[in-house]
Amino acid sequence: MPTPDLAVIGGGQLARMMQPPAIALGLRIRLLAEGPDVSAAQIVPDHVVGDHTVLDDLRGVVDGAPVVTFDHEHVPPEHLRVLESEGHACRPGPHALLYAQDKAAMRERLGALGAPCPRNAPVASRDDLEAFGFPAVLKTTRGGYDGKGVWVVRSQDDADEAFASDRPLLAEELVDFRRELSALVARSPSGEVRSYPVVESRQVGGVCAEVVAPAPDLDPALAAEARSLAERIATELDVTGILAVELFETGDGRLLVNELAMRPHNTGHWSIDGAVTSQFENHLRAVLDLPLGGTDARQPWSVMVNVLGGAVDDLEAQRSVVLAAEPDVKVHLYGKSVTAGRKVGHVTAVGDDLDDVLSRARHAAALLTDG
Ligand code: ADP
Repeated sequence: MPTPDLAVIGGGQLARMMQPPAIALGLRIRLLAEGPDVSAAQIVPDHVVGDHTVLDDLRGVVDGAPVVTFDHEHVPPEHLRVLESEGHACRPGPHALLYAQDKAAMRERLGALGAPCPRNAPVASRDDLEAFGFPAVLKTTRGGYDGKGVWVVRSQDDADEAFASDRPLLAEELVDFRRELSALVARSPSGEVRSYPVVESRQVGGVCAEVVAPAPDLDPALAAEARSLAERIATELDVTGILAVELFETGDGRLLVNELAMRPHNTGHWSIDGAVTSQFENHLRAVLDLPLGGTDARQPWSVMVNVLGGAVDDLEAQRSVVLAAEPDVKVHLYGKSVTAGRKVGHVTAVGDDLDDVLSRARHAAALLTDG
């Protein structure tokens, strides 16, 4: 195999969606995949099967690659520091990634920056929780995703599962939010920063169900505030690549940061079909310190709906049904086997009329989920 331009750690759908812009730009990706048939390994020929927690597996895949980036945030920082000392640029670096890996560290750092956050405190005991007060949201500081490791607690009894997890916990005030927003930025090592239009993300059961870009009826001043907040966090934390800042919009029109992700993010998938430059292309451009591409939307509305594993278990057979029913909706399948609730694809519709765009996207996703 020829020398890669970059190594990508992790073979999920995010790595998979980096491959089309890599092909277009003539960039070669080498992948560390969890197995021979995971989502990205199916389409990135230069892949090595290994474990991202094993230093030698990481060394094997980054060999000859000047830049290393990620499909997820779970590579141990101490391994990344070794890779850096051996001459590989990790983007984002371990010093930044910490704030996407550890919610307590993130809260402390954002608090120091004066970024608006829900009231929060580390909780080591039942007494600490009592002192924090109810209702509260308890979160494991590390390893949570898609709402796993998040508990709404209105009394000590509700906290049994959280304490039984035996993991460090953070308590946050239960925010009575109007909706969830997401502000995405791309930042390169030389400091170029570009932010995407702020989107609304709608969750069902802790999992992102659909994303509307831009967020409907968002006060332009609040949108500008969200974008400049995300740009400032990216710069202050020295993030390289895509940073997603998940936000709550409160009933009284304030923004609070929920959490940070330092990789292409589900709330940016609309950009593949809806923006001048997709988040995946800008992630590659950013981590390779290439000039960034425009982040504007190409039409008034884009709606992305996730396809979660449901009644349809043969997605390939259902593909022709959805393409016939919604010929203008863009269908993205991740090459993953269907299990209940698993993210196996997404669809995006774009256009001038939000109701029409929403209904076409929802219809296409329902055909792939429910048949
Ligand atoms: P994960 O790492 O699993 O994505 P999050 O911290 O994003 O966890 O929380 C998952 C969901 O739980 C959020 O999208 C939001 O709907 C809800 N949530 C999280 N924190 C709070 C909070 N402080 N107040 C109210 N709801 C919250």
